[in-house]
Order: sequence, then C-alpha cells, then structure tokens
Amino acid sequence: MSEAFQKVIGLKIDVDTYNGMKNGVPRILSLLNRFGIKASFFVPMGKDHTGWTAKRVFTRRGFLKKASRVGVIETYGMRTLMYGLLLPGPEIARKNALTIRQIVTEGHEAGIHGYDHVNWHDHVKEWGEAKTTEVLDRACSVYEDILGRKARSFAAPGWMINAHALRFFENNGFLYSSDTRGRSPFLPVMGGDQFNIPQIPTTLPTLDEVVGEPLSLARYFLDSLSEGLNILTVHTELEGKHWTGFLEAFIIQTLDQGFTYGRLMDIAQACRESEAIPRYNIFYGHVEGRAGEVSCQSQKVAGS
Ligand SMILES: [Zn+2]
Repeated sequence: MSEAFQKVIGLKIDVDTYNGMKNGVPRILSLLNRFGIKASFFVPMGKDHTGWTAKRVFTRRGFLKKASRVGVIETYGMRTLMYGLLLPGPEIARKNALTIRQIVTEGHEAGIHGYDHVNWHDHVKEWGEAKTTEVLDRACSVYEDILGRKARSFAAPGWMINAHALRFFENNGFLYSSDTRGRSPFLPVMGGDQFNIPQIPTTLPTLDEVVGEPLSLARYFLDSLSEGLNILTVHTELEGKHWTGFLEAFIIQTLDQGFTYGRLMDIAQACRESEAIPRYNIFYGHVEGRAGEVSCQSQKVAGS
C-alpha cells in the first residue's frame, strides 16, 4: 500500500471547539491558501461542551500532564472551558455554516468530527448500535443542511471509534473514515467483523503529544516523516491559534524537501483504485504523550 504514495502528506485539521471553528479555521485557511495546499477539515456538527472535560483538569493526572505542556487555559480560553458548565454550549457547525461552505468552495474537504465531541470521546466505546446510529444520523443531517449534499468522510473525536460506526459509514456511502492511529491505510476488522470502508490512520504524533521534546518542533516532525504517505492531524485550537508558526514552518520545510499535500478524500480514492488494501484489526491502545485510550491499527495483518 505504501508504494502507492511517494512523499505525500495528508493534512487532517480537527475542529474541537466553537472558538476553534470561528477563529482557528479562517486562520488555517489563509495559511493553506498562501501555499496553495489543499487539506481536510473535520467539524463537530453539534454543540461545544468543552466545559464537561474541565473536570479532568482537576481529576486526571494524564490530563494535567498534557495541560502543563500546551497550557489548557491559553489554548482553549476561559470562555470555552465554561461551555456546558456555566455557559450554554454554542452550535459549532450551524453558527459557522458560512465558514464550512468556504472550506469547500476554496477546494478543501469538509468532513464530520462527531456530533458532540466530548460525549463521543468519552462514551462511544460503550455505545450500542441504536445510540451510535442516532448520533451519526443527527450529525449527517446537520451536514446536509449546511452543504446540501451527503457527508462522505468522518474522523472520530479523540480517535475513539466503535464497530457500529464503521458499519454506518459502510452503509451510508462514505468514501473512508479516519479514526485511528497507525501506519498506513487499511480495511478495518473490529470486534471480529470486517468492514470494506478504507481507514486512513493518523501516522504522525500531534503537536500536544510532543511539545517539550528537546528537539525543535518542526525538526521533530520532519525527522518523523516517512518517504511514503504521512497523515498529520492538527487542531484549530493549537495550530489555528498560538501555534500557527509551527504549522507554517512545517509546510515551508516539507515543500522544500519535495513533499506534496493531498486531501484525505483524494488519498482514499487513490487507495480504492490501487492494489488490494490490507486488512488490520482495530484495538483500543495508548500513544506516547496522550492520556486515555485511542483506536489503533494492529501490528499484524488481520488473519495472518
Ligand atoms: Zn477532535
């Protein structure tokens, strides 16, 4: 599979908050447009309930460790940390419909990043088929209202996915989904079931996972790139705010080294048209620098 791509980077831009959507997306759009790069944006279709995770700042050691690395208050801002607690959570997609349309008219991809990011991240592992389908139906209908066409791609909030969601994508005409951490595109096997919907994993760490490494950040990411396909997930709350300089440096240096950028939908299309895509299991595991579980690509081809 990896031979199908040479020095390609897929930039996956996750929106987690209302503020990240309203202020971070336009900033990243202008950066991308300056370099003529096309990317894939994933947006939660419901309300911003970041405040629900504020409790973790005080109760979870892993979150505290991460908090001290990137600075939770500087990253999210006090207002966002109150959404769902002292302030009602604002609608992320509906209140920013124009920006979502702008993403598409400027040639980028707009996909779904769950409905309620916090709720999905914390509970999707336990959700049954009915609950998973209900949430995805709701997210898809907001997407259709805003863009006037069906959603074709999904990225799981917090890289947490379940088998019911994979079945939903398969049954509803999705081109691919990007829900895991791994090495290369694959067809997923989860809970013993096989799915024929390509999975495009995030192959690189995220900025908040490596802040504090001794090397310069851009250097660290350049050293981590493979000569084949790379998928980098960035966040509008980080690279669209205080860390735009990092993203810019990364883009300049990768273009200089001959890397090209593609939307995940084009990468998925190329996968579908190339040789048979290998099957891997998805399991819940851990990645360095991140608290809690994430869905991961297994080391061995499923069934081998
Ligand atoms: Zn997210």
